[in-house]
Amino acid sequence: MSEVTVDRLELSPLQERTLGLLRRGDPVVFDTAFIASLRHDVDEAFREFHERLGDESIFISKHKLASVLGCEVQHVADDAFTWSAAVAGGQVAHRAVQLMINWRGDPVPADVVDEAIARLADDDSSIGDWIEGLGEADLADLRGVAVDKLIKFQECFPPLDRRAAPTVESSVRWPIEGPIVLSGRVDLTLGRPAGAESRKVIVDLKTGWASPKHREDLRFYALVETLRTQVPPRKLASFYLDAGEPVVEDVTEATLLTASRRLLDGVHAEIELTVEGRPPIKRPGTSCRWCPMQSECTEGQDYLAGANGTDD
Ligand code: SF4
Repeated sequence: MSEVTVDRLELSPLQERTLGLLRRGDPVVFDTAFIASLRHDVDEAFREFHERLGDESIFISKHKLASVLGCEVQHVADDAFTWSAAVAGGQVAHRAVQLMINWRGDPVPADVVDEAIARLADDDSSIGDWIEGLGEADLADLRGVAVDKLIKFQECFPPLDRRAAPTVESSVRWPIEGPIVLSGRVDLTLGRPAGAESRKVIVDLKTGWASPKHREDLRFYALVETLRTQVPPRKLASFYLDAGEPVVEDVTEATLLTASRRLLDGVHAEIELTVEGRPPIKRPGTSCRWCPMQSECTEGQDYLAGANGTDD
């Protein structure tokens, strides 16, 4: 029986396609010697990094890794993050998906979103504080963004049977101790390992355009999962809800090696910048579009003029 099973027989073409992409094929079992060697190489590199860190510690998330490997000047600049309906709507929708998966019956999306907003508002977190301070019109705005995302999720995904072990916003962290912590929150996972057989599918829910960065984000999660459990996930999927299109990648040894090299490059750069005092390097790219320093950065302006609206 497939790992991803559904409760209902009548699926839309979009849901059928998603189900087909997520179904298991032949069993995938990674070479245990390869996994041990990957883990050994990361452990060894971390030991050297620990010496360079001294008393400092660093957290590496998918965002931080992408940031330090992008434009370093933007990376080290103060991150003046503020919540908005567009940003918080994604978080609310993820919380709503989490509720909906475990909700009995056929819930109305707006009701599930209201419940998600109420629960997040109760959280002792920055988004909870932000929601608490919203007026009625801003709440309606937030509700609208989240309901749109939740309905698109329902259109794209078949109803998920609990036997598929779906988890939403599952936090991952590795290792258990030490000054370098890899951490993240995975949008959606389906399946779980059966012994050494890889069965888990890691899904990132996206709105907007496809970007190569999204594939790197998922590979980071695949690596953390492998270091945590010694069983890599089977597939990685960026699911673009606005377009109804998934981009799916099978996890291979090459995927994991690429992810580990990228991770070690990122940790090395982070230590150089934050502990060893190396000056940051400008790397113009897509992120120039929303960079707060764009108005005073010649390199960024030149890049944007040359890019002429195309993605890199
Ligand atoms: S505008 Fe571009 S190159 Fe300049 S600091 Fe920002 S991200 Fe870096």
